[in-house]
Amino acid sequence: MPELPEVETVRIGLDQVTIDKAIKGGEVLLARSIAYPFSVAEFLDGITNTQLQQWQRRGKYLLGKLVNSQQEHQGWLGVHLRMTGQLLWFDRAITPTSNPESTQEFTQTPIHKHTRVRLFFADNQELRFVDQRTFGKMWWVPPGLEPSEIISGLRLMGAEPLEPEFTVDYLAARLHKRQRVIKTALLDQNIVAGIGNIYADEALFLSGIIPDTSCAALTLPQITKLRDAIVQVLETSLKHGGTTFSNFLNVQGINGNYGGVANVYNRTGQPCKVCQTPIERIKLGGRSTHFCPQCQRNL
Ligand SMILES: [Zn+2]
Repeated sequence: MPELPEVETVRIGLDQVTIDKAIKGGEVLLARSIAYPFSVAEFLDGITNTQLQQWQRRGKYLLGKLVNSQQEHQGWLGVHLRMTGQLLWFDRAITPTSNPESTQEFTQTPIHKHTRVRLFFADNQELRFVDQRTFGKMWWVPPGLEPSEIISGLRLMGAEPLEPEFTVDYLAARLHKRQRVIKTALLDQNIVAGIGNIYADEALFLSGIIPDTSCAALTLPQITKLRDAIVQVLETSLKHGGTTFSNFLNVQGINGNYGGVANVYNRTGQPCKVCQTPIERIKLGGRSTHFCPQCQRNL
């Protein structure tokens, strides 16, 4: 599942290809990919003949600000990729050269079978929402409304971990006296925005914290280490994820990319890069959790 660094990488890519471009229309191939408005026709009406002024990211949500030709606000285009969503840019006016895979995609006439929504731009350009598992969603937020009034996941969203608001005090206050385990708390979007399974496991490894430690049992020095580790793993990944773009937006490189530098995630049974102890896996809150029993001892 794309997490903060991957979604941010997509946001940067969207900014590169769609800004100031007019949406001429669209096609919805799977109605349930549109979360709002409830009518697909109303969704298409809302976004048609608008242009994208900028893309923002909040947690794992992408928010495209829409304006008309007079630069008047026309609402927001919201996207959540969930597990398998991808936004792919097709530009038939330019022959891609740098990425053989994109060339292949590009020359395919039939659209990919998991294509759910197509947004058409001028000059034969197109943004496709491809989503195999179909949990991904798009929203059109009408002008005059805040995205959080329509997209419920934004309402109680926690701090952005790469912004100054994500302080040790903030994290300590959110974890204070909570009985649930720290791994599960880190996945709660209302505590830290944009963290998922990969970065939760990696941050706990870097901070030496046992994943099933109760939040209430964490000391301030531990929370300080954890806060710094979260920032570190996200920034490292962002650096790697930002290099995968050519002429299309790829959410693909993500796991694979960070996989190369992961210390524990998806490395069950393999030797810890620090101490050679085999990495262990347990289930916490229904999610696979990877850790080193030697390096993570709450010291
Ligand atoms: Zn270790």
